[in-house]
Amino acid sequence: MTTDTADTSAPPTPSHQAVTDSNSPLVDAQAQLASAIATLGYEPGLHQLLASPRREMTVSIPLRRDDGSVEVLTGHRVQHNFSRGPAKGGLRYSPAVDLDEVRALAMWMTWKCALLDVPYGGAKGGITIDPRNYSRGELQRVTRRYTSEILPIIGPDKDIPAPDIGTDEQTMAWMMDTYSVASGYTVPGVVTGKPVSLGGSLGRAQATSAGVVHIALAALEHRGIPAAGATAAVQGFGKVGADAALFLTEAGVRVVSVSDQYGAVHHPEGLNIRTLQAHVAATGSVAGFPGAQDIPGEELLTLEVDLLVPAAVEGVLHAGNAHRVQAKIIVEGANGPTTAAADRILQDQDVLVVPDILANAGGVIVSYFEWVQSNQAYWWSRTEVDARLEHRMLQAWHHLLDVAAARELTLREAATVTAVERVADAHRTRGLYP
Ligand code: GLU
Repeated sequence: MTTDTADTSAPPTPSHQAVTDSNSPLVDAQAQLASAIATLGYEPGLHQLLASPRREMTVSIPLRRDDGSVEVLTGHRVQHNFSRGPAKGGLRYSPAVDLDEVRALAMWMTWKCALLDVPYGGAKGGITIDPRNYSRGELQRVTRRYTSEILPIIGPDKDIPAPDIGTDEQTMAWMMDTYSVASGYTVPGVVTGKPVSLGGSLGRAQATSAGVVHIALAALEHRGIPAAGATAAVQGFGKVGADAALFLTEAGVRVVSVSDQYGAVHHPEGLNIRTLQAHVAATGSVAGFPGAQDIPGEELLTLEVDLLVPAAVEGVLHAGNAHRVQAKIIVEGANGPTTAAADRILQDQDVLVVPDILANAGGVIVSYFEWVQSNQAYWWSRTEVDARLEHRMLQAWHHLLDVAAARELTLREAATVTAVERVADAHRTRGLYP
């Protein structure tokens, strides 16, 4: 962000703030925290403590490529907070990864775990890499070297990684194996999102999508829109978006548009998501889906629909497009898809924005179930996992509505205030050492 005055230390004017994006998830995450601190009336020292990651590690990852050459990649693990338990959060492989992005995502994990009352702090990891350009063998070597570099700071009681963008259950299996070899025995609880054959939980793979849809249906009901016949657009057709689109159609919602990083498709009567999944499996993209119209990806965000589910990356709803959003409800499947500036614009337009730290928490909830099952070496049925997930999501949703109404806050403000208060309470009850 640039300012038009010579004094770059001067705070931006309110009107400037209202229309300008920071282009930084960390600036937005810090602004959300600052607003929660103001609501709660906490002192500057406590604010500073909650604003600062407890531990950060940046590592070099030398990789021998399949052609024999050596390339050095960079990885991070940021542990934002431990007040309520071990740190928890995903590992992202993406060319956009940098330390500030990982810091923001780690902070959001702290709030997400506190809001859903799972006994963890927050963390996030990332490697700056485009996994599509690397072979499976290369990705295995990268994962094992990264795990070995961060080994001293992870563990079932310290920090428990899980999948995120660009990583999957195979990545978790390699991490678990590397950690277990170094320990001398098998430690399933060091990661979650593992294959079921290695102690993963039934229902983990679909958990984020299932949670998004539980919340989407509750939000439609809250706004008085019957699910049967409601229209939706889903941005992203990966781990979160694809099954969210499927579960929405199973609930009777008409999913009229979906997109991925290569394109977007639209059908006013609703897309057949199972057929679309088969098309993606065959071609690698939603683009060119027979019977649907190809549209520019950006157009999906501004379609006239009841429900918009951004389920891809940060910052896709911004000051430049938020005023054109026609959806009545936004349910954030991605982490940080709405910038602070867009948030204000959407609020003015009376769009109900259900924040990421609630909407996409299904993943970490079932990660928690997986960790509990691993630690007890006793596995639950799929029905049990699904029922407990739904119960936790809806309980948090109703609590959030109550807090938002009682304190006259937006859902995002209410979510952050609730989470920050829980983390601060844990911190203050434990006391400061020494
Ligand atoms: N990466 C997911 C998230 O952002 C899941 C994290 C986890 O299961 O620990 O919430």
